[in-house]
Amino acid sequence: MITEACIDVKDRACVDVCPVQCIYEFDPEKNTLFSEAEAGSGVIENTHQPNPDAIAIFADSLLYVNMDECTACTACYQPDVCPVGAIYTEELVPDGATRTRYNSDDPNKGHDHTFFIQLSRDAFAD
Ligand code: SF4
Ligand code: SF4
Repeated sequence: MITEACIDVKDRACVDVCPVQCIYEFDPEKNTLFSEAEAGSGVIENTHQPNPDAIAIFADSLLYVNMDECTACTACYQPDVCPVGAIYTEELVPDGATRTRYNSDDPNKGHDHTFFIQLSRDAFAD
């Protein structure tokens, strides 16, 4: 689950560690969500159609995990992967209240990140 700290950072470090290419980028020109085995390679592994309403919220400013494809392998959750601590397991997304364990690099400690659980699901139309 990718949360707001990714916005406008989007360095794609998580893409390179995901073994199943389930971390997607939105291409506004082609109106498609795509994943690459190696970030920036231009070699597309998987594509999906975006849901227009959901993708309009943040568009291509952050990446999206397809939770139906994620195997919860934990590779992208490791603390040395995301430079801004944006990635959480679905079960441990902080809600700003009862769940207070934030990634140490997350600049948005105290925020309710649970919105991104639904966004991650809604972004994919197929
Ligand atoms: S936890 Fe999911 S999104 Fe993260 S690297 Fe593993 S399969 Fe990919
Ligand atoms: S590693 Fe973090 S900042 Fe980089 S693209 Fe992935 S979620 Fe975004």
